[in-house]
Amino acid sequence: MVNTAIKNFAAFTLCGNKLIYLCTNFNIRMSIELKVVSIDQWFEHDVQAPLIISGPCSAESLDQVMQTAKELKETGVVNVFRAGVWKPRTRPNTFEGVGKRALLWLNKVQKEFGFKVAVEVASRKHVEQALAAGIDILWIGARTSSNPFSMQEIAEALQGVDIPVLVKNPINPDLELWIGAMERLYSVGVRKMAAVHRGFYPFEPSPYRNIPLWEVPIELKLRCPELPIINDPSHIAGERELLFEIAQKAIDMNFDGLMIESHTNPECALSDAKQQITPAQLLDLHSKLVFRNEKFAESDTVSELEMLRQQIDIIDEKMISLLAQRMDVVREIGVVKKSKGVKILQLSRWKGLVENRIKMGEKIGLSAAFVKKILQLVHKESIQKQAEVMNEKEL
Ligand code: PEP
Ligand code: MN
Repeated sequence: MVNTAIKNFAAFTLCGNKLIYLCTNFNIRMSIELKVVSIDQWFEHDVQAPLIISGPCSAESLDQVMQTAKELKETGVVNVFRAGVWKPRTRPNTFEGVGKRALLWLNKVQKEFGFKVAVEVASRKHVEQALAAGIDILWIGARTSSNPFSMQEIAEALQGVDIPVLVKNPINPDLELWIGAMERLYSVGVRKMAAVHRGFYPFEPSPYRNIPLWEVPIELKLRCPELPIINDPSHIAGERELLFEIAQKAIDMNFDGLMIESHTNPECALSDAKQQITPAQLLDLHSKLVFRNEKFAESDTVSELEMLRQQIDIIDEKMISLLAQRMDVVREIGVVKKSKGVKILQLSRWKGLVENRIKMGEKIGLSAAFVKKILQLVHKESIQKQAEVMNEKEL
């Protein structure tokens, strides 16, 4: 039932002005065989789903790393300590990580606090240095998973190596590219693998640093049912205030873990300062999370209802965003009308539009009365917006 509901769900997303048909027709796209090891079996003990990965965006100094690790250990809720050593920054001349020597700091974290440690790798050299240092988990960043050449190089460096690898989603909502990155690792024998959902570059104004587009990990889960998926609220949010809401949503959608950036002194962080939280704040966030037992795609009524509600949430989010975009265009039309001295209301255009939309709606099962009511509401607001434009005083 759940699968049928999702199968029939056509998901669209907006990139710029283009409406992109993202995911549907699962009858054609068959599920992918990624027979990976579940998180609980990655190590002999101590590491279980939901995996809680935390630590600074970047390893900055021995003190910062050790103090953050100490405080995270005290929370008692973290199983993996993360820290970026080589930082892929969007612009040059910003902090690009301290490099190889921070691997020694991570060795200290392993020894003193018993944490498994994770670093980001983006090249063969990074992989070799991380493996030589005995790092426990590697992750591949969004900029790297977007590049098949880099993924191939990393995969070749991992041939025959038994280490868990986390693959962040590419910058754009390109599920094929994401799966392709993981297939490259799978084909060299990587079997301890998880996808990390960190959101997608926002082409439109958004409260998020990277828009979550939850339908993408949902389709990934449908296509690769055994693959664990971890959520990264930090890089989705871009700011502390949104972290809880995103983390709770991920837990409700039965993600297999969370990766949340933390820093002993977030305000002074050398990268991603706005989104990092203190270990104490991480504990607070964790204690407020409600963990439910239902598995992501179980066919019991509760999870079925939740799946449907998640679809409703996604659709509503898009509806609201589309309405906002429509209003932006309405304003632009207002500017043109003003400059040409044209009146706001052209009855023939309005009449034609209503008839056209009613026919459109009727073809897909929406009543004429319903479509008309909605259009009237939208039109009222549009007129209001254009009236504002008309009456704006020129500076
Ligand atoms: C990070 O985890 O610090 C990072 C650089 O993430 P992303 O690849 O998601 O931008
Ligand atoms: Mn970061």
